[in-house]
Amino acid sequence: MSMFFRPKKVVRPRSEHCISRQNIDPDALRILQRLSSAGYIAYLVGGGVRDLLLGRTPKDFDISTDAHPNTLKRLFRNCFLIGRRFRLAHIIFGKKVIETSTFRRQPDATQEQENGSVYQHEDNTFGTPEEDAKRRDFTVNALFYDIKTFSVIDYVGGLKDLESKTLRTIGDPNVRFREDPVRMMRAARLAARLEFRIDWSSRRAMRRHAAEIHNASVPRVQEEIMRLFTYRSSEQAFRYLWEYDLLQYLVPELHAHIMASGKAKAPEWDYLRALDNDPLSTDASNSLRIAVLFYPLFKEAFDKDAKNGRVNRVAQTRQLLERFSTHYKIPKMTRFTTVALIEAQARFAQNTPDSPRGRRFIAHPLFPQALALHRILLAAENRQDPQLSAWETTTAETAAQPDFEYKKSRTRKRRFGRNRHVDNDAPPAGTDQPADAG
Ligand code: ATP
Ligand code: MG
Repeated sequence: MSMFFRPKKVVRPRSEHCISRQNIDPDALRILQRLSSAGYIAYLVGGGVRDLLLGRTPKDFDISTDAHPNTLKRLFRNCFLIGRRFRLAHIIFGKKVIETSTFRRQPDATQEQENGSVYQHEDNTFGTPEEDAKRRDFTVNALFYDIKTFSVIDYVGGLKDLESKTLRTIGDPNVRFREDPVRMMRAARLAARLEFRIDWSSRRAMRRHAAEIHNASVPRVQEEIMRLFTYRSSEQAFRYLWEYDLLQYLVPELHAHIMASGKAKAPEWDYLRALDNDPLSTDASNSLRIAVLFYPLFKEAFDKDAKNGRVNRVAQTRQLLERFSTHYKIPKMTRFTTVALIEAQARFAQNTPDSPRGRRFIAHPLFPQALALHRILLAAENRQDPQLSAWETTTAETAAQPDFEYKKSRTRKRRFGRNRHVDNDAPPAGTDQPADAG
């Protein structure tokens, strides 16, 4: 489409940008230098370059090169190739993984299917650096830092967009969002986190293609929902999802509640903001995130029940989470922990921190998250708890496990019993397994 401006390659030399080798992870830097001295192109790519140019600390450092995966395997002993269709190298340093990929391009655009769908199946072929830049999602995510010249290379107009704080798809957003609808969620998350605006045509395309989020795989969408909570910007990220019509497809019960309770003034925003501002926010477990996200819904049900004199918080919580957790296949133990966090809230009112019951509560591994939820509810509802600081000081003395979640308890019978020598689901001969399992 000609309405999309095709930028020329821009090379910004070392003297004109702020990326210093000192800010690059030393292991990533070593990989870059090793590749370069072996004669290969070696670029730092993606979110890492973007964050360095913005003066932020990158979460991870990804590398792209013209060396093929097998060459990478030969050059780095600590290298593991993953992925079937497109082989990606993971270079491992203890717990750290540096993702190193060979330049690749988009699959051919001519494979539009009968129904007009351009949904992209993961099937990539090697390409040039320019092609690698153009297969990426947003212009600011497609910048390269070249270790040989220390310059930043921009094939897509990303530098200009970085300066004007604009999140813009590379090419026609209508095509790019249909290829991979998860990019719409990435737009909401990145714009919220970086405090960028989403450019006009991308915004319009999000509204237009919102329903196509259903074409994305459920595990990817689930993961992306949970990623919205990282970086203390969940309120804005969910506001974008709501504003650009995605929320109704992602979490319809929440969308309905927001629409019924005054849209921009819905309580959801207060709870998410309180989570973003909480000290535990970046360590929050998925259980706590879900508890906060759904709390306005829970609260409404609890209040209604209280009026009718029959409160069962556990049953309500379970029921209100049912559709969401089934659809996104939320692990049982995560759901169970969410319910436990809600249930635990009553204990703050019923006990004092120095009573035996209170001390037992504090010693519970779930306590730090329960306390965080208590703080978040207080902040969101503009309430005070005179005992809050007492609960908090006592916690400091206990061994905190901020991301505790219930784990499936080991059932010895299963582990050491009938499953021991079996490599399929059939029970071994001689066990008293009932014949009909259904
Ligand atoms: P974060 O800082 O949260 O990790 P990021 O931009 O680094 O954000 P990643 O998911 O780590 O996001 O992806 C790394 C890079 O891979 C992106 O910067 C982008 O260039 C590319 N990328 C990721 N997801 C997509 C996608 N769905 N379509 C096209 N390119 C993508
Ligand atoms: Mg990243």
